[in-house]
Amino acid sequence: MRQVIGWRDYVWNIYWHVGPAYRSRNALSARRSLPSWFLELDAEAVEARCLSDVLAGVRDRGWVHHIPRLMVLGNYALQRGWYPAAVTDWFHRCFLDGYDWVMLPNVVGMSQHADGGLMATKPYAGGGAYLNRMSDYCSLCRYAPTRRVGASACPYTAGYWWFLARKRRTAGRQPPDDPAVAWAGSAAGPGRGGGAGVRPRFGRPIASRSGRRERGSRRRADRRSRTSPRPDRCRPRRVRPGCRGSSGPLTRAPRGAVPGSAATAPASCR
Ligand code: SF4
Repeated sequence: MRQVIGWRDYVWNIYWHVGPAYRSRNALSARRSLPSWFLELDAEAVEARCLSDVLAGVRDRGWVHHIPRLMVLGNYALQRGWYPAAVTDWFHRCFLDGYDWVMLPNVVGMSQHADGGLMATKPYAGGGAYLNRMSDYCSLCRYAPTRRVGASACPYTAGYWWFLARKRRTAGRQPPDDPAVAWAGSAAGPGRGGGAGVRPRFGRPIASRSGRRERGSRRRADRRSRTSPRPDRCRPRRVRPGCRGSSGPLTRAPRGAVPGSAATAPASCR
């Protein structure tokens, strides 16, 4: 329903509200030019299975669905820092529905985040794991969606980390409340697959939804730990792998059970 009665109105009004200047927005300072294989829709020159298939769809039908446009085409351009106005022109030229009011907000705003967050709160960048979850391309691709370096590194996974690294490098030149900087910080932080050495040193990281859930469940578990009897071997705050003792639901002790006995232990610790 949102697509019919909400989203189109939103896009239409953004287009008329912001005016012609929207076309030249480039909040992420992306300046690279589009490669010739992309400009000429040369799908055979591309080994990445998802990108090759989507490019072939544009070449043969002049149209692909909104999601491949965002997730495969726009995502690739965003990761590589292609000039947003040139990407918009490409969409105009190659798509049957390349109307100005459709393409400007969707490409400049939603796909390339060139409006600095006017239309969407964070850049639409995703790695191979995301594409693998949302499509069936990866199983037959020569690249591995989880690899970011090496000969079998997925171009989307490598590109995703390259994009984050560029954002972190330019963070000093961005306003401190730039949502893209904060997003890059939270996306690269511990617990998001960042690993050692990628902890963000700039911006105020936005708490991810999973992070908030995790902290919420930890607080609830702490509250329970102050009121529920626990066996010594399931100490509060120390969670063993596979043991949900401090974050999972505690079993209520049977009436009359002796604190510390097996009857009062969480099921996962027995
Ligand atoms: S492994 Fe990477 S390049 Fe290959 S289909 Fe999956 S996302 Fe696309």
